[in-house]
Amino acid sequence: MHEISVASGILDRAITAAEEHGADRIDAITIEIGRATHVNPEQLVFCLETIADGTAGEGATVRTETVDPVAVCDCGWRDEPDDLGLVGGFAPDVRCPECGERTELVRGRECRLASIEVPEAGDRTEQTATQER
Ligand SMILES: [Zn+2]
Repeated sequence: MHEISVASGILDRAITAAEEHGADRIDAITIEIGRATHVNPEQLVFCLETIADGTAGEGATVRTETVDPVAVCDCGWRDEPDDLGLVGGFAPDVRCPECGERTELVRGRECRLASIEVPEAGDRTEQTATQER
């Protein structure tokens, strides 16, 4: 299942980011999912929560944010069309309404870690004490 490998990559990055902040656990993980991807958000959240067990991400709240597609053309045309002719999530073939050239989808295909929330660094002593209670 595609979502497993995507979730695994996102979890790795979230844990790395948490370590960079000196945190040993993650409160929340936010993922950006473009509407032009073929990733199912619900499956992705489920996979992430499942593989996070036993890691710093265990118990983290997983949120998803939908990213609307943006197509641009060399002529300067740029838009966020509602209907890109997405079929099965494949990259759309959108023609520029101004000049007829093929446009490039610059947003909407991402599926990546947007942000994480970790316990406040200043609270770490208190957090540890709470956990030991
Ligand atoms: Zn154009």
